Amino acid sequence: MENSVITVRGLCKSYKKHEVLHDFSLSVERGHICGLIGPNGAGKTTVMKILGGLIMQSRGDMEFFGSAEGLDKSRDRMSFMIEQPVIASAMTARNNLEYIRILRGYPDDRRVNEVLDLIGLSGTGKKTADKFSLGMKQRLGIGMALLPKPEIMVLDEPVNGLDPEGIVEVRQLILRMAEEWGVTVLISSHLLSELSELCTDFSIISHGELVENLSREELLVRCRGHIAVRTDDINRTAAVLEDRLSISDYKVIHGEEIHIFEKLGDVKHISKTLTDSGLVITRLCEEGQSLEDYYLEKVGDRNE
Ligand code: ADP
Repeated sequence: MENSVITVRGLCKSYKKHEVLHDFSLSVERGHICGLIGPNGAGKTTVMKILGGLIMQSRGDMEFFGSAEGLDKSRDRMSFMIEQPVIASAMTARNNLEYIRILRGYPDDRRVNEVLDLIGLSGTGKKTADKFSLGMKQRLGIGMALLPKPEIMVLDEPVNGLDPEGIVEVRQLILRMAEEWGVTVLISSHLLSELSELCTDFSIISHGELVENLSREELLVRCRGHIAVRTDDINRTAAVLEDRLSISDYKVIHGEEIHIFEKLGDVKHISKTLTDSGLVITRLCEEGQSLEDYYLEKVGDRNE
């Protein structure tokens, strides 16, 4: 894609003979927040480690900022927070940031104040990092990754293990750095619900394989409200819906239930028509699929 800053094609990774990543592809557009979502062990960290150059893929290629050349140089324009951030626990938030500033040769010390403000730790003064909550530590880790002004941040499960308040704080921080600082973000989680309001795009991964890449809008459409129907004959039910009710926007789920995405509010009429056609209705109700249900269904499909 034209505006893609991370493009990954056909990535495979094997440990000995065990393939943990198979033909994985992904594209992240500049300015977007892309969620890499999948159960534990799905291959999210493996993808991020390959992107960061920490491990080599067995096959496949990638481009950063539209080029497959000079990946190491491109990585200077990116920051990676993979697994736990490395924080000096006996130092304050400011000193941890100062340390990174000096280490990375970043001359402008005003940047430390800017980052402290953004991560909401300006007021922590002399408090050392060992006395921080997990959420504060995560925010400090993100601040340390942000300090050298990366264009892209790659964050591996940054909200994992946080309490609900910590999750909200980290989400707000990521949103601010994307909106105010224009940073492109690739972020992973094993729970779609944790990132559903944050991300502009989603890449769902299961057992090392891509399940689906979709935008937030597409996800919301997939999770839209519907009428769920179960009867004693699902195939004939589909025929009745089409022939007698002119319904075409429906989906058969696992061969046992139909979700109808049109004529919502018309449950009575649908019920009468099915009964008049001799079908025995065992379930009929209006419902909306939650994002998490959608995700579990997708990941479950693969597990089967
Ligand atoms: P996720 O981040 O989605 O939880 P990972 O990328 O960490 O998943 O792991 C994907 C799979 O690769 C898992 O089955 C894991 O056990 C396996 N794996 C990861 N690292 C190694 C390694 N160094 N040696 C062997 N297998 C590994």
